[in-house]
Amino acid sequence: MATATAAAPAAAPSIKAVQQPKSLPAPNSDFYELADVLTAEEKAIVKKVRIYAETRVAPIINKYWADDAFPFELLPSFKELGIGGLGYKGYGCAGGSQKLFGFVAMELARVDASICTFFGVHAGLAMGSIYLDGSEEQKQKWLPPMARWEKIGCFGLTEPLVGSGASRGLQTTAKRDGDTWIINGQKRWIGNAPWCDLSIIWARDVADNQVKGFIVENKTTPGFSVEKIEHKIALKVVQNGVITLKDVCVPEVNRLQGGNSFRDTARVLRMTRYFVGWGATGVQMGAFEHALKYAQERLQFGKPIASFQMVQDLLAKMLANVTACQCMMVRLAQMDDDGKLGDHHAALAKAFCTAKSRETVAWGRELLGGNGIVADYNVGRFFADAEALYSYEGTYQMQNLIVGKAITGLGAFV
Ligand SMILES: Cc1cc2nc3c(=O)[nH]c(=O)nc-3n(C[C@H](O)[C@H](O)[C@H](O)COP(=O)(O)OP(=O)(O)OC[C@H]3O[C@@H](n4cnc5c(N)ncnc54)[C@H](O)[C@@H]3O)c2cc1C
Repeated sequence: MATATAAAPAAAPSIKAVQQPKSLPAPNSDFYELADVLTAEEKAIVKKVRIYAETRVAPIINKYWADDAFPFELLPSFKELGIGGLGYKGYGCAGGSQKLFGFVAMELARVDASICTFFGVHAGLAMGSIYLDGSEEQKQKWLPPMARWEKIGCFGLTEPLVGSGASRGLQTTAKRDGDTWIINGQKRWIGNAPWCDLSIIWARDVADNQVKGFIVENKTTPGFSVEKIEHKIALKVVQNGVITLKDVCVPEVNRLQGGNSFRDTARVLRMTRYFVGWGATGVQMGAFEHALKYAQERLQFGKPIASFQMVQDLLAKMLANVTACQCMMVRLAQMDDDGKLGDHHAALAKAFCTAKSRETVAWGRELLGGNGIVADYNVGRFFADAEALYSYEGTYQMQNLIVGKAITGLGAFV
C-alpha cells in the first residue's frame, strides 16, 4: 500500500531490449489510498512487514517454491517482526485491530501467498482455536509460546474422505476414557503439519456425535504420525500433511474447553475466512504490480507493451479487481472491529476475493506472455497459488451456500 516504498519485485531475468526514454510511474496497487484508514502506528507496522517481505522473502521465495520446500531460514527473522498473535488481546499476543491483522496478511500475500498462509495457519487457525475455544488455563499455557513463534501450530479439520461436509460428520473419532480421550482417524491437507509442534485436531465424540477440538503435541504423542503431501502445483512452499492418529491418547486438559460442537469450529473459520479474503487481495496486488512493471519494460514492435491499448485494458481490469477487493475487506475489517462480522459476511468476502484473485492472476499471467509460466517472473507463482486459496478454508460453493442461506432464509446444504 502507499505506506511503504515500492521496492522492485524479486529479480527476474532482464526483459529490456533498450533503455526506456523516460521514467514511468512505479507500480502502486493502493489506487484508492486505503492505507489511510490505518493509524500512524499501524502504518509503521505494515511498512515494516512490507520491507521485510520485499527484502527477506522476495529474493528467495521462487527457489523454495520450485523446490517444494519451506524456508526455515526465515523463521528467526519472522519472529522479530512482532506480529505473533496480531489481533488477540493478552497472553503475550501482539494485539491490535482486525484491520491491522488484515493489512499485514495482505502485505505478506502481496509478496508470497505461501508465507501468508503459513502465518494464517499458525496465527489464525491454530492460535485462533485456542483463543476462541480454549479455557483461561489453556490460553495461558499455549498462547504465549505460540505468540513468540516458539511453538508452531496447525489445524486439522479436513479428512481424506470428508472435506466440504466436515460439519455433517467427521470420521475421526474421540472416545472418552476417564480423564483421557482416545482419538483415531486421519486428517488431510494440514498446513505446517509435517514439521510443526502442535495440532488442533477436530474429532467426533462418539458419545454425543458432536465435534470437539483437541490440542495434540505432534512430536511427543505416541500414535501420531504425519506424511507430507507431495507433487502439489500450488502453495508449494507450505508443507501440507496427512496426519494419522492411531489410538492417540489426549488428556482432558488438552480438550478445548469451549469447543463443544461444530458451531465452535465455525467461529474459528469465520475469522480465518476473513483472513483469506485479505490474502487473496494481496495476491492480486503482487500479480498486478509485477505485471505492470513487466509491461513498462517489455518492448514489442519497438514500444513498451504497456503502451498498447489492449494491455492497458488488462491492467485496468486487474486494478479494478484489486481495488474492489480492498474496499470490501476494509469494510469487513470495520465490521469485525465493531463485533458485527457474521459467518455470511466472511463467506461472501472469501468467495468474492478468491474468485477475483483467480481472474486477476490469469490476466497477469497472460500479460507476461510465455514468461508468465516461468516461476522466476513471479506472476506464474501467484497464478498457481491463487488456485489453492480459492479452494481452502471452504470452497467457493460452500461460501455461497452460507451466503445463500443467510439471504434467502433457506438452507440449501445437502
Ligand atoms: C493448499 C491447501 C491447504 C489446506 N490447508 C488445510 C488445513 O490447514 N487444515 C484443514 O483442515 N484443511 C485444509 N485444507 C483443506 C480444504 O479446506 C479443503 O480442500 C476444502 O474444504 C475442500 O474440501 P475437499 O478438498 O475435500 O473437496 P470436496 O469437499 O470433495 O469438494 C469437491 C468439489 O465439490 C463441491 N461440493 C462439495 N459439496 C458440495 C455441495 N453440497 N454443493 C455444491 N458443491 C459441492 C466443492 O465445492 C468442490 O468444488 C487445505 C486445502 C488445500 C488445497
